[in-house]
This record gives sequence, C-alpha cells and structure tokens, in this order.
Amino acid sequence: MDIHEYQAKEILSGFGVRIPPGGLAYSPEQAAYRAREIGGSKWVVKAQVHTGARGKAGGVKLCSSEQEVFDAANGLFGKRLVTQQTGSQGKIVYRVYVEGAVAIERELYLGFVLDRSSERIMVVASASGGMEIEEISANQPESILRTVIEPAVGIRDFQAREIAFGLGIDPAHIQEAASNIKGSYRAFRDLDATMVEINPLVVVESGSIVALDAKMSFDDNALFRRPEISELRDKSQEDPRETQAADRGLSYVGLEGKIGCIVNGAGLAMATMDMIKLAGSSPANFLDIGGGASPERVAKAFRLVNSDKNVEAILVNIFAGINRCDWVAQGIVQALEDNPVSVPVVVRLAGTNVEEGRKILAQSGLPIIRAATLAEAAERVVTAWTKNQKHNVKLVASS
Ligand code: GDP
Ligand code: MN
Repeated sequence: MDIHEYQAKEILSGFGVRIPPGGLAYSPEQAAYRAREIGGSKWVVKAQVHTGARGKAGGVKLCSSEQEVFDAANGLFGKRLVTQQTGSQGKIVYRVYVEGAVAIERELYLGFVLDRSSERIMVVASASGGMEIEEISANQPESILRTVIEPAVGIRDFQAREIAFGLGIDPAHIQEAASNIKGSYRAFRDLDATMVEINPLVVVESGSIVALDAKMSFDDNALFRRPEISELRDKSQEDPRETQAADRGLSYVGLEGKIGCIVNGAGLAMATMDMIKLAGSSPANFLDIGGGASPERVAKAFRLVNSDKNVEAILVNIFAGINRCDWVAQGIVQALEDNPVSVPVVVRLAGTNVEEGRKILAQSGLPIIRAATLAEAAERVVTAWTKNQKHNVKLVASS
C-alpha cells in the first residue's frame, strides 16, 4: 500500500526526521489559509497523488504570495496529473500540501528498500538527488552508495555517519544527517514498510538537513497489525478494479490484454495466463477467487471481470479441491442471468462435484462454451474472441 507525501512526512517526523512546516488543503481557500498559518513569503504547493515525478508534470509549484498559492491550488484540484510513473490514465488531485519553501543548497537522495538477494534492508544514497536520479543511477551507477543493515542490531551509528560522510555533508552537520538517516530506518522497520524514499533530502543554505519529499510503501500482508497505517489508505489513488476486488476479498491484478480470467489459486492463474498467451491472445487481469468460494463470491468475481471494458472474452478455469464446481457453476449462472454478457464465455471445470457443476451449466440454457482441459479452454476462448472480433469489425464496416 502506498501513502501520500504529507502522510509519509508526518510519520518520518515522528521518528525525528526534519521536515519543512506544512499543511494539507482540500480547497484553494484552505491552501491560501495554510500559507498564512505557515508564515514567511515563499511557499510550495504540491499535488498529493500516489506517484513520483510530479515536479516534471507540473504538480509542484513555487509561490511568492497567498494569491499565487490560491491560484496554484486552484489549477491543481481535480486535475488528472500524468507523470512518467502513472501511465496515460494519470491520477486525479483531490488534496494539495502547502509547505514553507526551503532555500536549497544541495539535493541528495536517500532511500530504503528490501534487498532480496541479501534478505536485508538496504540503504541507497546519492549525493546527486532530485528529479534526475533515474538518469544518474543509469549513467553513473558507481556514484550510488549502498549499505546493508544487519537486522539483529539495526542501523549502527557508524553506518549512518558513513552514509552522511559519503553524501558530502560538512562535519558540523554529520550528526544531524545521521539522525535523519537513523530515524528513516526505524520508521521503515517499526511500521513494516517496503520502501522509504526521501528525494530530495536537502542541505539548506544554513547547512541543516531537511526531507523535502517523502514516499513510503507498506507491506499489505502486515497491515492487519498496523491499523494506524491502514487508515492512511486513499482509494481514490488506486486502480478502481483492484479496489473493488479487494473490498470483495478477491485477489485481483488489472492487466492490459483482452481475455478476462476467473481462476482459483495463484499457480493455476499463472498457468492460465501463459496458456492464453500461447493460444495467441493476452489476459486482461489476474483474478484468484481463492478456496471455498461461495456462489455469491463467484458471481461477484464474474461481474467485476465483466464490468472491465477492456474484456472481450471471459475464461473461467477452476480446478476444484476445496472449491466446489457446483457452487462455481451456480455463481456463473447467477451472474449471467442478472446481467447477460455480449462477450463469449468459456468455462472449464474439474475436481470436486464436477458432474453437478456441468449439469447446472448445461441446464441453464445459457450460451456458455465448455472445455475439458486447460489447453482446450485457452484455445476455445481465443478462437471465440477472434471470431467475435471479426464479427464486430464486419458490423462496423457495413454500418
Ligand atoms: P516529485 O517531482 O514528485 O519527486 O516532487 P518533489 O517534492 O521531489 O519536488 C520536485 C522538485 O521541486 C524538487 O526536486 C525541488 O527541486 C523542487 N522543490 C520542492 N520543494 C521546494 C522548496 O521548498 N524550495 C525549492 N527551491 N524547490 C523545491
Ligand atoms: Mn521527489
């Protein structure tokens, strides 16, 4: 789960990381009011959307009067911000964060990630932070500092100082930089984060060290024990298909292809996606209904896949152990009777209660294409999809 910059900053601040004074706003009036509260004569208005690279996309505005703050916020609210990281659909701005502007001397990069090969938290740092960090890591990989943290002892003072030294911090501020680094590490570890990124961490003209931007992501599987983090979830920033699925207890990942998949078990879902590719098309999603799925859950899964306008054919592939084919069949029939579909539907059932399941599908009288094996199912759904496409092309051409 990702959170907003202002939320990450509040968390990090609680662990002793220095941040500029700031306030959240839901309207241009409130943004101008925040500027007055903060005081000073320069502010930054920042779109709060779950993506980086906002600066290059016009999502970060430097302002020199309350009126400019108002206008900047006014221009951002409701806007669909398309950055290098969002894809073409972008993310809509519903909140802005107003901050007292900082006089930047140098921009540094400080990140914490899980390094899978060492099975440790790794600190990644660079003396050249800011908006060009991707280019720097690609062109000058040797300039990136990496430090692996021993989990049993956590980050050591000497490690934090070594990183600060490597970033070229002057001796008078090494201690301050080290405490920012240690605080960020503790926030990562104590809150089950999967990523903390401060880019830029800046050296201010006075020499002190401030986190100017912050990003945090958390391990979804640990959220049950972090209710205070779960509360920070902002559904407006997520893929609506995935949010709906999560609310229904389904594991769902939206993809770019045309064949909607309803499968049980992650392994079978992966195999099904491979078989669709092999048969000449590609999956529109990964959806795992899990074990012991009730007819209602199956029907919900079906409606969810069917509501995706990218989906041009649906494949249901169930190998039932804990699941029951008759329940799956009931769910499909229920969904199709409530909401007839215009795309071909192929169903392959195997395992527990398969005979009952097949009977329910046959007796429903619905135009369901049946298949006995996975290979056959993939073949049939792609054939039906291709035929349907040709048919649609003809309809368009003749109209
Ligand atoms: P991102 O583009 O989404 O990573 O947004 P950032 O919060 O990192 O802001 C992008 C850039 O805006 C930073 O790298 C800074 O150069 C600039 N910026 C942000 N806040 C300030 C500020 O308070 N003062 C100044 N001078 N520049 C700022
Ligand atoms: Mn940034």
